[in-house]
Amino acid sequence: MISVEDAISLLEKNYDELGTEIVTLVNALGSVLASDIISPISMPPFRQSAMDGYAINFDHHLSTYKITDEIQAGKDPSTCKILKGEAARIFTGAAIPEGATSVIQQEWCEEKNKMLSFSKKPLDDLNIRPIGEQLSKGDKILSSEHQITPATIGLLASLGIEKITVFKEPSIAIVITGDELIQLGNPLINGKIYESNSSMLIAASHHYGYEKTTIYYAKDNFKETVTAINKAINENDITLISGGISVGNYDFVLEASKEINIKEIFYKVKQKPGKPLFFGKKNKKAVFGLPGNPGATLTCFYIYVLRYLSLITKKSYPIKNEIVCLSNPYFKKGIRAEFIKVRIVNGLAEILSHQNSSMLRSFSEANGLLYINENITEIKKDDKLTAYLLL
Ligand code: AMP
Ligand code: MG
Repeated sequence: MISVEDAISLLEKNYDELGTEIVTLVNALGSVLASDIISPISMPPFRQSAMDGYAINFDHHLSTYKITDEIQAGKDPSTCKILKGEAARIFTGAAIPEGATSVIQQEWCEEKNKMLSFSKKPLDDLNIRPIGEQLSKGDKILSSEHQITPATIGLLASLGIEKITVFKEPSIAIVITGDELIQLGNPLINGKIYESNSSMLIAASHHYGYEKTTIYYAKDNFKETVTAINKAINENDITLISGGISVGNYDFVLEASKEINIKEIFYKVKQKPGKPLFFGKKNKKAVFGLPGNPGATLTCFYIYVLRYLSLITKKSYPIKNEIVCLSNPYFKKGIRAEFIKVRIVNGLAEILSHQNSSMLRSFSEANGLLYINENITEIKKDDKLTAYLLL
């Protein structure tokens, strides 16, 4: 059995990137750029009015200007020109006509019989956005490994960029084992329980931007387990197996992984929940054997699977941590590290009841997983500890 820290460092040493793919901009949120972006145009691409008002060709001898034109946003500027002493009505975003020295905002102006007068003396280029004020054609505007945000998408769209190259999104197989499981939509039979891990793992994957998920099912026997895992690995980039990784008579995942020649990187972590966690590689593809108890499955997803997904896609690991104070004391039994469901309010963490790995009720109320490393036994009220924030 290895420590949580060692398990994480083994993940960090044993990951393989998936290469790159071209995606349309609207599908790129959260992805990571695989190349620099060079702007194909300047922004703004033409001299642009920053205000609704009047473009003038300033003449310090004059107090009134003849209004010769009206320039709506979108109008081709080559058709407009103002001479000394002339003005044109103009609107925000419109192209500045040739000859204009500044734009006087509407609030300063008076218009009478197509003649303009204004109260303040304008500075040169007042309210005019120059060409390339924000960026120039040929500028490197984003570097490779930038993680795409809504603002990035807006910026790239404003430059007319429709497709970008990003690190490839992995396809995720979810292999469900367990003869006791009934799929949603069917009546519950005595001795059986509803299968909930696939719904939960799909939701957790989607929540962090991993949309490509496929479910596979295996009965609790060696042959079916081998077949399902093999198919999952062949058809996907990463495989999550739910259940069957423990030491019971009907747990076949470890045996199957040997049959398939999955290289074991680690099996069993000194942690609660999730002790039987398995991580292996088949060539460059990762395989996680997640303990079937739903609380353990989800904890292992947050702490290990999500970290691995972040590594191969070059995303930042989305689970941040925070130092919190405990509102109630806690005694840890045993030598394993623990991930404890807590509700954190203003830096104060309350340990929730019903922590058992078979249960999800407290997990549903939790907004954090308190991490107690294996060396700590007793935690007093007000002690400070690290909590992973579940957002
Ligand atoms: P296992 O890891 O296969 O020994 O399963 C441990 C516990 O988790 C058992 O009580 C299982 O019934 C339960 N379990 C396993 N898989 C699922 C699942 N997909 N949905 C809900 N409970 C599960
Ligand atoms: Mg089982």
